Amino acid sequence: MSLPENTTVLIVGAGPAGLTAALSLVHHKCYDFVIVDAAAQGLNASRAITIHSATIEVLASIDAVDGLLSQAIKGKSIRVTSRDSEIFEAKFDPLKQHSAHPYALYIPQNVTELVLVQKLQSLGIQVQRPHKVVGMKQNEKDSGITDVFFEDGQVIKARYIIGADGARSTIRTIAGIGFSDGESPQLADNPLAQMVSADVTFEPEPVGPFTLEGYFNGTFFSGNFFYLAPFGNHFNAELTRDGKPTTKSIFRIGCGIPPKNGEPPHAPSKEYIQNLIDTYGPACITSDPSLNPKPVKVDQLVWSTRFRTRCAIADRTFTRLGAAIFLIGDAAHIHSPAGGQGMNLAIRDAAFLTEAITKHIQASAENPDVDDTILQDITDVRHARALEIIGYTKTLMNLASLSYEPYACWMPFSRASIRDLILRILNGYDFVQSKVAWGLSGLGRR
Ligand SMILES: Cc1cc2nc3c(=O)[nH]c(=O)nc-3n(C[C@H](O)[C@H](O)[C@H](O)COP(=O)(O)OP(=O)(O)OC[C@H]3O[C@@H](n4cnc5c(N)ncnc54)[C@H](O)[C@@H]3O)c2cc1C
Repeated sequence: MSLPENTTVLIVGAGPAGLTAALSLVHHKCYDFVIVDAAAQGLNASRAITIHSATIEVLASIDAVDGLLSQAIKGKSIRVTSRDSEIFEAKFDPLKQHSAHPYALYIPQNVTELVLVQKLQSLGIQVQRPHKVVGMKQNEKDSGITDVFFEDGQVIKARYIIGADGARSTIRTIAGIGFSDGESPQLADNPLAQMVSADVTFEPEPVGPFTLEGYFNGTFFSGNFFYLAPFGNHFNAELTRDGKPTTKSIFRIGCGIPPKNGEPPHAPSKEYIQNLIDTYGPACITSDPSLNPKPVKVDQLVWSTRFRTRCAIADRTFTRLGAAIFLIGDAAHIHSPAGGQGMNLAIRDAAFLTEAITKHIQASAENPDVDDTILQDITDVRHARALEIIGYTKTLMNLASLSYEPYACWMPFSRASIRDLILRILNGYDFVQSKVAWGLSGLGRR
């Protein structure tokens, strides 16, 4: 399909960041834009599963939340547990003092993207795909325009370019913007530096409090961290679209892979996942009768992947190469999935940036010599937010990966057992639970 030769705004990438940017531009009555993606079709891996209160509010503010509210599971809390008991629970309900959305939405990322695409289509906008950006050059005749080159030879001239093209961003590379860990390479040594995630069904269906919908559970065990999110039957059609359909409940699991176990396979097998569950998972989903009086086994492996948890942030997220060029979402910053913050930050980046872009477009129409202050200011704020969240996820990762090995021969307690004890005590205090929920919700750092 042929692309237009000119546009005011070009959005590169139709993940959560790019799709939100498009919806936000329409909300702000900017219709002269094009959104492109290199992939022939949308994502079919489920990846992020949590949309926090602050992000729900932002999506509501651009009239893009109704589909998500109707399809997602309303999450009641995030819990940390040992293999068989609760250690700490951050309940979302107390957030009702601060937000009209006192919950997290649990919904797989491919469903989130589908809902956002459908919303865009209802507004008459199509993602143009597959169109891969391969080059950019300042226009020779107009110094406020950049020519953007596509793999198929097409060229678009744009005044604003939003790089929402993910962690390996082409826009970032061509713009010559560095991407590294702003603080320290701590995570390289973290036992949770490599992880596996999968969607599975069990036979028979597991029972117990950790298997209830609306609760996200993180289990501490042996210096490792295992997470379990029960999806029930809510997303069976979307999650099994490339596999055998199932009517059983689907569970998302994720687990750190200790370095001594070597590198996990690219798409871990059912046996690999079963072994992880039996070694690190909550007792109620294991096949081990010594742990679980009602043993269960993985029945269908719906999807599995491995990934690395690394932090990096772009040196800057706004530059000029003729056009104003921005980076948002994973193109601008990546970090571990601890606390489920990555996609949330991406969506909020997109909404706030596009509001500033539309103001800049209006200001330029009134005064062609308007400067870039409004654009620089918003990107500075988003950069600071990303640094805060990177620090926050590092703290969560470091806490999650503490070891149960005794600290020293003169100190027979482990750091992890002290952490668990403190968390169990704090769990008795509502205000501490609320404070943790507040931190996760993003309401204090939109
Ligand atoms: C296993 C896993 C689990 C995760 N869990 C969570 C979680 O629980 N919570 C959370 O908030 N986050 C989580 N994340 C992170 C989350 O998935 C990302 O932060 C989110 O996808 C970022 O969205 P994005 O739109 O910035 O980038 P992406 O989703 O990566 O989208 C980028 C898009 O750009 C397109 N593109 C790339 N290059 C080009 C090009 N040259 N031209 C045109 N198009 C291009 C790609 O095809 C893609 O569609 C997880 C990530 C992984 C891998």
